[in-house]
Amino acid sequence: MTDTLTRLKTIYERAYPHLPIALQNAALSTVGWHNGITCRGRGFARLLDEYEARTFADPGDIQELRNARLSAFLLHAYETVPYYRDLFDDLALHPSDITTLDDLAELPILSKATVRERQRSFVSTSIPSRRRKLITTGGTTGSAFILATTIEAVQEQWAVAWRYFRWHGIGPKTWAALFGNPVAVPIRQKEPPFWRYDLAGRQIVFSSVHTSTDNLRYYVSELRKRKPPWIHGLASQITLLASHLIDTKTDLGYETRWITTSSENFLPQHKDLIEKVFGVRPREHYAMVEAMANISECELGKLHVDEEFGAVEFVPVNGSKYKVVGTNLTNPVTPLIRYDCHDQVTITPGDTCSCGRPGRVISSIDGRQEDYVVLKDGTRLGRLEHLFYSFTTVSEVQIRQSTIGEIQVLVRRLTSFTKDDDRRLRQEISKWIRDGSRVTVEYVDEIERTPGGKLRFVVSSLDPEEAAGYEAMPQVALDELTQRS
Ligand SMILES: [Zn+2]
Repeated sequence: MTDTLTRLKTIYERAYPHLPIALQNAALSTVGWHNGITCRGRGFARLLDEYEARTFADPGDIQELRNARLSAFLLHAYETVPYYRDLFDDLALHPSDITTLDDLAELPILSKATVRERQRSFVSTSIPSRRRKLITTGGTTGSAFILATTIEAVQEQWAVAWRYFRWHGIGPKTWAALFGNPVAVPIRQKEPPFWRYDLAGRQIVFSSVHTSTDNLRYYVSELRKRKPPWIHGLASQITLLASHLIDTKTDLGYETRWITTSSENFLPQHKDLIEKVFGVRPREHYAMVEAMANISECELGKLHVDEEFGAVEFVPVNGSKYKVVGTNLTNPVTPLIRYDCHDQVTITPGDTCSCGRPGRVISSIDGRQEDYVVLKDGTRLGRLEHLFYSFTTVSEVQIRQSTIGEIQVLVRRLTSFTKDDDRRLRQEISKWIRDGSRVTVEYVDEIERTPGGKLRFVVSSLDPEEAAGYEAMPQVALDELTQRS
């Protein structure tokens, strides 16, 4: 599936790294300008108004709106999408049998692999190709795929995101420092500037692949020079910057007003670290290119599901842990019903928020459900991030595994990390991994990112089929750990 814009985009991506810096700035600004008139054009403004009008709507009204959207969406999928026509018929179901979120359990959960294998059968026959817009989904190399949607759907994604930004007082003309871009600055460039400007989108786009300890000082001096009031991007990148400022005993030299992060595995102490360094609490947002679900943090620090945007289900995994399964109500071209987002969240029973927003409250977004290691005895052990909750002198951690029973822990330390921390860290690990699996702790200066610039918590090359059952760290142990931290 290609269209003119996609072909242009390919040419742009190939040519961009070879342009001189001034032209790269111009190219980025042109893309920013184009996004401004398409994704954030007139339709976007109307959608944003509608979303904002619903900020404090009654939860019942919002559920009703979502269920109405869901019913219409299922009918549309049944009538115009070959995959869903077959699926409903095979199950002897009709879309009218499903009217609520709970009813969706009648249908199977959809895996990314199925969508990739049978991509064409997921495309609606009723949307003409001129209305389709192609986007590339997230994922590691090889697991990403191209998905067709509409410009209206993309505008709605921007609208729900901007509702959240505006909750915190960020305006459309606010200058932002954007952290986490892996392609803005070609990897072969060895000297600063490690950033580019998108003048139309009002962004300083910082590279996520040049963040060595040596280079971070250039990032800081650029921030000092331009003083963007808003820092936005990958949590791990902003944590890195905060750690650098602590390590070098310097400050940013100006007041940041907003820090917003897109969800990654984010250790709770890193939120505190960012707040301590920049003086503002970072706000979190969970979204994805596929538009299956959207979760936004309110001013009281609670995460709310944006209920009218997608039909989001939380399927129990273990204890208070749930996996995110979504239905992309905004995309009529490629309806994906009950799509496994491969992310997990924690939901604490009785957790509510007094801000007045109608969306369900999530305690935390915990990242990828593949984040586990396999012990020698065959146990799959997940939620290992909890091991590091009490270590405020650790800047980044990554767990790597390529052989069952052998686990490598990479740790990037702050200069305040002591011998006692080292001893405590090893003790903590041996407390939970004691079946004879071999664990090595390695202190490193840098931890490798994914091609998308993300810091992955667990990097495993094991075949998921090799492990028997999934086992999270026991809840009692987690409470104990959290209390101590
Ligand atoms: Zn709230």
